Amino acid sequence: MSLDGTYDAGNIFAKILRGEMPAAKVYEDDHVLAFMDVFPQSKGHTLVIPKHSTARNFLDEAPEVVGPLMLGVQRVARAVRAALTPDGLVITQFNGAPAGQTVFHLHFHIIPRWEGVALGRHAEGMADAAELKELAAQIAAKIS
Ligand code: 5GP
Repeated sequence: MSLDGTYDAGNIFAKILRGEMPAAKVYEDDHVLAFMDVFPQSKGHTLVIPKHSTARNFLDEAPEVVGPLMLGVQRVARAVRAALTPDGLVITQFNGAPAGQTVFHLHFHIIPRWEGVALGRHAEGMADAAELKELAAQIAAKIS
């Protein structure tokens, strides 16, 4: 998928938003939903998506959605830090398949990093559902 194209309402994140697919939810407000990545690149890898959006990528997004979305990303990133005390955090986002994007509903990755712990491969290796639920609860408890 290139940068240009039509939003597909059958994408996995749209299904999560409609409640058609399960997710280990961390945080939700009027603008964003945060949940655990099922193929985490590190412990606590969390995704933040806009709820009312048909943007496939960041370039597509309506400017008025960007502000509340980024506030949500910061709020969740702070909670990830407070819950898991990583040494660092990657906050990233891919636009178009050649850039690494695999799900075409705009999303931000929050990936905690620890000294000496290698980053896992992108979108590979499914996590245990119970473990993700527990991590989601730990992070949710630190949302402020
Ligand atoms: P992208 O590659 O588009 O930047 O990121 C998509 C992310 O969604 C990947 O990190 C991948 O592991 C994650 N992902 C793919 N399918 C699912 C799913 O069904 N549930 C959740 N929670 N994450 C998913």
